[in-house]
Amino acid sequence: RAKSAGGDSSAIYDVRMTGRATGRLDLESDLRLALDRNELSLNYQPIIDVSTEGAVGFEALLRWHHHEHGPIMPDAFIPIAEETGMILPIGTWVLREALRQVQQWRTQVPGAENFTAAVNISGRQLVAGDFPDVVEAAIRDTGIDPAAIHLEITETVLMDQPDLPKETLQRLARLGVGLSIDDFGTGYSSLSYLKWLSARTLKIDRTFVEELGADPHGATIIELVLGMAESLRLDVVAEGVETAVQLGELRRLGVRLAQGYLWSKPLPAERIPAWLRSHPANVAAAISAPVAAG
Ligand code: C2E
Ligand code: MG
Ligand code: MG
Ligand code: MG
Repeated sequence: RAKSAGGDSSAIYDVRMTGRATGRLDLESDLRLALDRNELSLNYQPIIDVSTEGAVGFEALLRWHHHEHGPIMPDAFIPIAEETGMILPIGTWVLREALRQVQQWRTQVPGAENFTAAVNISGRQLVAGDFPDVVEAAIRDTGIDPAAIHLEITETVLMDQPDLPKETLQRLARLGVGLSIDDFGTGYSSLSYLKWLSARTLKIDRTFVEELGADPHGATIIELVLGMAESLRLDVVAEGVETAVQLGELRRLGVRLAQGYLWSKPLPAERIPAWLRSHPANVAAAISAPVAAG
């Protein structure tokens, strides 16, 4: 499915266009080779403190540049990666690469020393027994502060995994990494479930942000989520903020963190330093921060 003109600059290849019979099989076997062929990369979207409009961290978003078909968006290939189990090696690569990159910014870009790294994790990864070992090794090898790591898991995935290994969650908590519930509001989590998971962050799904300013219902849902988050002491991030009207509404409601095209699309790593310099709040943070060595 091609995204609209305002969408992500990399587009636009749909598995369904190739027909299920051949296309899907091709993609499946090509996905097995994609890692070795260096066809996978990460884009980074800033997460914004709405009071200053400066970045507080980045979410890593996976991209596949297919040697024949060109860019393929994650919605078109993550499901295949999950069904085939390829998400395990791919997910490990994503985690290690995202942590390496964000840690590099934290140590080399003035004002970036407290940036957080948000990484999307699939349910398959979470139930694989060695997931905490993978996370622990990535922390050790990159040297990043575990508290800077946010593992994003979609609410629906959590609902579909009734037998989430409690030991995995406990080990992740002991490592000090945070859990974010992605696309929050689209599933049906109960309060007790959120508490049990010891999540740190709720990411309000884009569909509710879209309704802000247009449909009074949008604000109602977000108010409910904020109330719940406050009692459970969770951070809230609003996803998919595209307009100043939406930002105004989010501020009025008391949302502190957001991400969306209003500030930036997900960008390749090499474009992030220039993006940081061109946004005044980041420059101010960099001036007041101690100069990093080296
Ligand atoms: P998500 O984690 O909820 O990521 C947010 C999606 O919204 C991203 O789509 C992002 O590009 C898009 N987005 C951000 N701001 C805006 C906006 O203002 N307007 C609109 N219309 N869209 C916005 P993307 O990159 O296509 O990723 C789609 C989904 O694929 C992600 O949703 C996530 O669930 C999954 N995904 C991406 N990378 C990975 C990965 O490395 N591993 C796993 N397991 N899943 C991933
Ligand atoms: Mg996410
Ligand atoms: Mg989301
Ligand atoms: Mg999503």
